Amino acid sequence: MRKNIVAGNWKMNKNYAEAQELMAQLLEYKKNNTTNCEVFIAPPALYLASAKEVFKNGEVGVYAQDVSEYASGAYTGEISVDMLSSIDADGSLVSHSERRTFHGETDSHANRKVKALLDKGLTPIYCNGEKLEERKSGRHFEVVKNQTETALFTLSAEEIKKVVIAYEPVWAIGTGETATAEQAQEVHAYIRSLIADKYGKDVADEVSILYGGSVKPDNAKEIFSQPDVDGGLIGGAALKIEDFTKIIEGFN
Ligand code: PGA
Repeated sequence: MRKNIVAGNWKMNKNYAEAQELMAQLLEYKKNNTTNCEVFIAPPALYLASAKEVFKNGEVGVYAQDVSEYASGAYTGEISVDMLSSIDADGSLVSHSERRTFHGETDSHANRKVKALLDKGLTPIYCNGEKLEERKSGRHFEVVKNQTETALFTLSAEEIKKVVIAYEPVWAIGTGETATAEQAQEVHAYIRSLIADKYGKDVADEVSILYGGSVKPDNAKEIFSQPDVDGGLIGGAALKIEDFTKIIEGFN
């Protein structure tokens, strides 16, 4: 059966010492508490290797925030799947909305990045979601359908089972505006139905679909209680240990 996951996306926050402190706090928490979900972090690339040392027994999954679609070469500033693999990183976020907005990333890029990660045995956390205008004009299902099909539907059934999807409505990211639990459930169920139509229900039932967008300690439990919501991708509230652990406890 699919996994429940709470993943923290640190974005471009925290200097080295602050990052080490938060990792140490998280390790301590994991040692002293049993969680009913897997816990992942996506710190800035610079801290991935030290994160793997801190969580050397796999207490917390370590993910990049982005990865190149290319294997190696003249791509200044990029990191490759091989580099992630060589430090034993667990995977990478793919096409987060901020990569789409500020770096022109599309679902065709996402498709190649997802495939590159899977080919080396790493886990992609593929992000999608509609913008505010698209939601207001009632086009959110159509947008999410196009995104999901372009990014993922060239994969085999065995491959898509290994992908984690994060539905993150752009209007809810960092805005304090959260989708209601019903709005999240509705789109998650829809994404799962798209996968079921293409690959069959058994495959769709194995794919973890996370919700992201202003998840906080006080709304996590309700959102996570929805049948097709398998956890969260957490931005702002992943930066403080008290908030992040309360969100993890949304699964208790
Ligand atoms: P937020 O970010 O929780 O700060 O809204 C979520 C994300 O961008 O992954």
